[in-house]
Amino acid sequence: MFWRLLTFFTGQAAGASLGWWMTLESDALAGALLGALLVGYVWLILDMTRGVRMLRWLRADTERDVALGSGLWGEASERIRRLVRARDKLVYQSEGRLHDFLAALQASPNGVVLLNDQGQIEWLNRTACDHFGLDARRDVMQHLGNLVRDPAFATYLAAKDFREEVTIPARQSGTSKPLKLSVQLHPYGEGRSLLLSRDVTALEQADAMRRDFVANVSHEIRTPLTVLAGFVETMQTLDLTEDERGRYLELMAQQAQRMQTLVNDLLTLSRLEGSPPPPSNEWIDVGPLLLQCEQDGQALASLLWNRAHNLHFDIVGVGAIAGASNELYSALFNLVSNAIRYTPVQQRIDVVFRLLPGGTAEFSVIDSGSGIAPEHLPRLTERFYRVDRSRSRETGGTGLGLAIVKHVAQRHGAELTIESVPGKGSTFRIVFPANRVHPILQQLV
Ligand code: ADP
Repeated sequence: MFWRLLTFFTGQAAGASLGWWMTLESDALAGALLGALLVGYVWLILDMTRGVRMLRWLRADTERDVALGSGLWGEASERIRRLVRARDKLVYQSEGRLHDFLAALQASPNGVVLLNDQGQIEWLNRTACDHFGLDARRDVMQHLGNLVRDPAFATYLAAKDFREEVTIPARQSGTSKPLKLSVQLHPYGEGRSLLLSRDVTALEQADAMRRDFVANVSHEIRTPLTVLAGFVETMQTLDLTEDERGRYLELMAQQAQRMQTLVNDLLTLSRLEGSPPPPSNEWIDVGPLLLQCEQDGQALASLLWNRAHNLHFDIVGVGAIAGASNELYSALFNLVSNAIRYTPVQQRIDVVFRLLPGGTAEFSVIDSGSGIAPEHLPRLTERFYRVDRSRSRETGGTGLGLAIVKHVAQRHGAELTIESVPGKGSTFRIVFPANRVHPILQQLV
């Protein structure tokens, strides 16, 4: 400012001096005033020209710089330039942060929908699009309530009580299985809200399975327990002969045995689910393993059929299997015992542990019993799934045998396959991977 005033007054003084000098002979005072006035006008015009140039530059809102030199206009334009640059930098940083924030919401495994105070969609991530069958471009600024028309969700919105979640079916496209969503609205700011959705299909399924499992176990235990309680009551109230007492006690022992088998199978399953994977460096000799299965199988056959079964055991090239011996025995014997239980005594059952090309090994149980209709095959390994319910119960089955076999096979990296022809017989196979198979015993360290 000082320089500006200095140049102005110096210019005035110079103009006045020049006017005074030029009109020295006539009217020097008027000449000095005119000179000062002229210089003042010129200064003002030059000054306004620079001001107008700066105004034009600001109006044009251009990136191009304007050269206004030094002085007041030059400094003002330079300061404006710096302010604009600082503002641009802030905007750029805020945009970056917003971009990062939206990218984080996009990466969320849950659906996220931002709603304005009218309940219109302002933004939604891909998961939300999948969950509700929406389109991120087309459906922006649409009312969510118009797009998600599930009755439970409509009631939830109308009640305006968003403390709890609501479970609704998903409208996900491209999947055949029905999905379940848990949805909750979280109000924030002034009337805005955030809608979060979670795929709870697996949780719901697990919950349903748990309920079924508890119901099945209760049912399986209640039956022998009721029979047992009936006998106890009879023995307490009736005067029985020694013979009758003996017969009743035997029947009671059978029911107690049934419950014990069930509890043992349940414990085996729970151990399989909770314990660490079977060791891959503990080698179980298949000879004694199969011998044990054969002896226990014959014992079971004489118990069930009162005579030895037509059982044939063979080992071809397999020395040992890496894993847990109790689990392996449980899986192999379950298959052998099923064959015995579902095959009439005079018919043949072949049990073979065979080395396959490539170093894998196959344990197979081939019976010529009742066989299984194809529609049952995919469900055989489900807990408590039985084809022949009465035969299973009569022969001490729990409906858990094949579930145990499948679990053990999976834990050993092996695969269980079932083939069956009704009326002809069934073949159950477990194929162990090469890294768990030792071809011959002598090679063991
Ligand atoms: P269970 O204790 O009832 O035998 P499993 O899980 O071992 O239970 O077997 C499930 C069902 O599969 C059985 O109830 C039976 O109906 C059928 N099944 C299993 N093995 C055989 C077989 N070798 N022959 C015919 N049916 C079989």
